[in-house]
Amino acid sequence: MQEFNHRDPVYTKTVDRYSRYIASPGQRLKFLRTMLNTRQAPSAAWQRWLNRVPFVGSLRERAVLVVEVSKYLPVETKLPFSLKLTALLYKLRVAVYAAALVVAFSFGIGAVYVVGRISASLSVSTEAKEMNGSSPNHIAKRDGSEAVKAISAMGSTAGLPPEKVWLAESGDGYEFYSNGARILTEMEIVGDVRRFFTFKLDRTSELPANTDIASKPVGIVFHISESDIVPFNDRNNSSLKHASRGLLEYSREHRLYNYVIDRFGRTYRVVRDEYAANHAGNSLWSVGKNIYVNLSASFIGVCFEGKYEPGAAIGPDAINEPQIMAARTLTAVLRSKYGIADEACVTHGLVSVNPSNKLMGYHTDWVSGFPFEALGLSNKSSSELVAVSRFGFTYDQAYVASAGGSRWPGLDQAEAKLKESASRDGISVEQERAALWSDFQRAYAMQHALDRERARGESEQAE
Ligand SMILES: [Zn+2]
Repeated sequence: MQEFNHRDPVYTKTVDRYSRYIASPGQRLKFLRTMLNTRQAPSAAWQRWLNRVPFVGSLRERAVLVVEVSKYLPVETKLPFSLKLTALLYKLRVAVYAAALVVAFSFGIGAVYVVGRISASLSVSTEAKEMNGSSPNHIAKRDGSEAVKAISAMGSTAGLPPEKVWLAESGDGYEFYSNGARILTEMEIVGDVRRFFTFKLDRTSELPANTDIASKPVGIVFHISESDIVPFNDRNNSSLKHASRGLLEYSREHRLYNYVIDRFGRTYRVVRDEYAANHAGNSLWSVGKNIYVNLSASFIGVCFEGKYEPGAAIGPDAINEPQIMAARTLTAVLRSKYGIADEACVTHGLVSVNPSNKLMGYHTDWVSGFPFEALGLSNKSSSELVAVSRFGFTYDQAYVASAGGSRWPGLDQAEAKLKESASRDGISVEQERAALWSDFQRAYAMQHALDRERARGESEQAE
């Protein structure tokens, strides 16, 4: 990275922002290298003068970046609005420059500054959208209808869109966010850097290249700690505190979760976001056309202190209101920070698999009853279980019982899809499962090798 030209921090920042439209880390790095090493300085005096006008001056550079970044996007990708706007303004650049000059001569440089600020606020609002996701496809879907649904579910007009979430203050042992989230950092530790593959759902036979390793979290898996629970009342205050301290220390020692929400609704960061926690084990989930295997490396683990009871996991003595409120604001912070899609926020019981007997639900925390809506999320009980429909996993009565005994739409949908693809291929469901199973094994072997390297790194550090 040393060859990068760091002389102009504004340009570097702009290039970095445009690079976030590129999903593949390898391609992104290539784009960064190219753009940061080939920048041409303006020669004419009027160009140098224009460069000092906010937004207008950087129009040419932005237009070049739009052209370059679009070379890295998949052919079917539609350009986001902010990129189209930049390209359009560049086409009209003579008029835009002329307008800037007229304004400059009529009102003096102060007025140009005002125009610059207006233009800058325009680009800031598009920046905020960029922050929602490295994959622009998820942005449009999310910030409109789902935000509206979440707000109406709250019965008020107080819901905040993701761009209203930022780190407002941090100090010794805490972070405080603009949406009210408070994260306690006194227990936080580092770990091993996230490294994971992105597999393609529609082309599972095509495996990613060994260089296509990502490290930015793409989702959230919610857990319950399965702790012994004392009744939630003031007489038990000290045992409640003692229990959560014990859970935190255990989680820290084994690097179990990225976040733990105790029964008072206090949110602790344990393993820092950029490092993998050992929370998800053998598991898989799909996000759009992407599929992720063994989610500890790719998903952030958030654990509620409590015990999972099918049908009764939520209540004053179970997962309670302060915990749900804390999880709601934490979820918004994480989604905003990493551009995590709604569909990538799921529970352990829906992603956990057991490759040794090909059954769903090795872990069954939150198979059902998770308060998705209260967290501003869509209910994943209607999401197709791709482990069943696309990778040959099956399930037993124990799995259905852990959801309270009745089947749910996502399970039925997966079964129907599996039957459909078997009849399309003209084979039995069993034969279809066997074929899909080999897809899973190939993907599993690749991610498992990365995870093993990570485990080796851990034991070396321990020595
Ligand atoms: Zn779990």
